[in-house]
Formats: sequence, structure tokens, C-alpha cells
Amino acid sequence: MSDAKLREQICTFSRSLFERGLTPGSSGNVSVRLEDGGYLMTPTDSSLGFLDPARLSRLDRDGRLISGDKPTKEVPLHTALYDTRDGSGAVVHLHSIHSVAISMLPEIDPASVLPPMTAYYVMKLGHTALVPYYRPGDEAVAGAIRGLAGRYSSVLLANHGPVVAGTTLSAAVYAMEELEETARLYLMLRGLNPRMLTQAQVDDLVRHFDLQMPDDAEGHDHNSLV
Ligand code: ZN
Repeated sequence: MSDAKLREQICTFSRSLFERGLTPGSSGNVSVRLEDGGYLMTPTDSSLGFLDPARLSRLDRDGRLISGDKPTKEVPLHTALYDTRDGSGAVVHLHSIHSVAISMLPEIDPASVLPPMTAYYVMKLGHTALVPYYRPGDEAVAGAIRGLAGRYSSVLLANHGPVVAGTTLSAAVYAMEELEETARLYLMLRGLNPRMLTQAQVDDLVRHFDLQMPDDAEGHDHNSLV
């Protein structure tokens, strides 16, 4: 994809996320990895609803700014996912409200924050890990993500918001949307004793779609959590 098309795609997806209320104000950031190992990222203090394609931050493979505005202060959490997950082409980070709410609940399992409620959650995310609270922009968050060693494509930062990596920008955005919808579903049904997918149904999805699941999240009995 050409540089101009990629820039356009970042702005279009970002505006769509913003307009649907998935990240407020100047929160949230989006990045795409380029063929030379560098990145295009959304600038610091910019609203995802009003990005200028020409002012996106262009970074080299070492994270140095080559052109455009100063990048988001959350660069380290993006590069932590790129560095630990081969094949990641894009990373999306939002402050989407239902996912943030989930990150604060006492029953949340850090190895898998949401139960297998729908097939699409299992297929697009598998499991989502919880990382402890850090001040936004604190480089220690990158260390916590690196500590997961690339086993998760989606990570929820406690009291902050989700981060999702995908092979392409559209894949990362769609997985993020699935995470947020599943978080909303969980909150709607919390305390109502809903039926989750059974382990046999999850195993069937894993086999049928050849899904990669992190070992440490396997076998968790989510049905007792709600
Ligand atoms: Zn953030």
C-alpha cells in the first residue's frame, strides 16, 4: 500500500472510532508498521476524529521522528507489541469505556480478562491479558507488555484502556471493536449468570480456525466468574 493510502487509511479508521464514541477527546492512538521497519503514528495530543494525513508522525525503525508532528507519548506500548509479536502490522490503543470498566473489576483474571462469550471474541482475540496500572507514557508499561513475550495480541491496561495488535490496520481495528463489544456484553450480563461457550465449544473453534492461544490462559474456568 502506498504511503499516501496508508495515511488516508489511518485517518479514516481513526475518525470512525472517534465518531462512534470509542475514545474521547485526544485519547487513543494508532500506528502502522512500514516495510522499512519504521512506523506511521498518530501525533501526541491529537484527536482521532480530526487527524491530518500530512502531519502523522513518521518514525524510523529505532523510533526516531523523521517527519510530521511529535508522536503519541504512548509509543513504547506500541513498539513493545511490534517487538514481541512477529507479523504485527498495526497497533490500536483506545480509552474505550466498557473495556476500561472491565479492567477495574475485582474478579478479572489477568491471564484472560473476559470469558468466551461469543465465537467472534474467541476467533479475533482468543484471550486478553491485564497489565497493572502505570502512569500514561511510563516506559514501564512497555516492560510489562514485553513480559508477556508476545503471547497475547490484545492487552488491557488497568484503569486506562486496551491495546490490540493485528496483521493489518483493519484487522487490529476489528479486533478492538470485538473486544469493546464483548466488554459491554459482559457488563450487561454481569450478575445474571449467563451461559458462556463451553470449553468443548472453544476447543472446536481453536481446531477449526487453527487459532493460537496463550498457554497460561488455557483451562481457566470462566463460568464461575460471573
Ligand atoms: Zn492511553
